[in-house]
Amino acid sequence: MTGFFTKKQTQSASRPDGKKLTCYSCGLYNHVQTPKMKPFGNFKKGIMNIGEAPGETEDKRGKQWQGAGGRLLRKTYAELGIDLFDDCINLNAVNCRPTKDDKNKVPTNYELDCCRRIVLDAIQQYKPRVIILLGNAAIYSVIGNRWKKDLGGILKWHSWCIPDQDLQTWLCPVFHPSYVLKGMKQEVITIWKQDLQQALAKHKTSMPVYKEPAITYLKETELNVLDTIKNNTEVAFDYETTGLKPHKAEHKLVCASVAVNENEVYSFMMPNKRSLRMPFINLLLNPYIKKMAHNMKFEDTWSFYKLHGTQVINWGWCSLQAAHILDNRAGTTGLKFQTYVRFGVVDYSSEITPFLQALDQKNGNSLNTVLEYVKTPENALKLLKYCALDSIYQYRLVQIQKKEIEILELPF
Ligand code: URA
Repeated sequence: MTGFFTKKQTQSASRPDGKKLTCYSCGLYNHVQTPKMKPFGNFKKGIMNIGEAPGETEDKRGKQWQGAGGRLLRKTYAELGIDLFDDCINLNAVNCRPTKDDKNKVPTNYELDCCRRIVLDAIQQYKPRVIILLGNAAIYSVIGNRWKKDLGGILKWHSWCIPDQDLQTWLCPVFHPSYVLKGMKQEVITIWKQDLQQALAKHKTSMPVYKEPAITYLKETELNVLDTIKNNTEVAFDYETTGLKPHKAEHKLVCASVAVNENEVYSFMMPNKRSLRMPFINLLLNPYIKKMAHNMKFEDTWSFYKLHGTQVINWGWCSLQAAHILDNRAGTTGLKFQTYVRFGVVDYSSEITPFLQALDQKNGNSLNTVLEYVKTPENALKLLKYCALDSIYQYRLVQIQKKEIEILELPF
């Protein structure tokens, strides 16, 4: 499934003036022996490799991966049972050799933006089963137009195999071979091989299929539906609020969602009247129903301060903490990142997030503008949908984390 914003809404609009970036905008093709190098390989196993750019040797010979990096890649693929040119199709994030003073140079973001159309067209034409993104340039080219904030680089993205829903294929970022060659450090080689092994195996794995979530929007007077949630089940819940910390009197719990399984979720504006809130509070207090959240401290604190001192009973799982246990790299544990790398949904929130950000970013007690935003019924519905999806992705994430943490066989 895709997020609820359309693909178009989430793609970059090329140039600020709305015109498309082209080979003419870039101009590299004017100065090379092989302009707009064509993809090369027999593609027998449906694997696409996207590198950075042709170097001098590639430009001379008119095909990809001809230098030292290419030799290492070919050898490593062979060790993993894959022939680089027979089983794969090869292209680059920039398809003309970028140079400075006649030497190879790293392509600029502008050159990458100009060449993105060629890369995306190749993906559409070949429909690969898996795409190996080799290094930062390839990540910027294929993910950067849809993940604009905090893209980061290869150290954040390698080791994930993303079931990308827009592109309908696995996206697997790995180190570029020139990075591996540079230091030939054992730990880099080991990680690179592990990443490649996992990534190349994906040509045999189908993309996961999830149902479209069934969202039930409850009116303020309908929260008693929550009484039907059975004992001995687990629920994931999530709040949208006016800020980060609930302690100030002006702060409000705006809405909440409760996912009862991977596909079904309730979402509702928080009623002002205590009596109407009671079914939800009773759910939080029910010792026979396990609660999960992504950052349970947040939901726990807001419940206490804004739901009449409610102390949630039977916390079962915090998917933020579990994400941290499984992989503690900076910028990877948030629900938005996890939703992309685990479920391939890039963006289900960009329309809402500006309204959830504090007006004064330096002040943890500052209010955001979400109450202004939800004044129209259409916006209120968008917020409820966003909140519902947070709980659904959280629920799905927990199921994966439980399996992975079990596999870790922690010694306690
Ligand atoms: N490096 C790349 O990124 N691509 C090539 O084709 C060759 C070297």
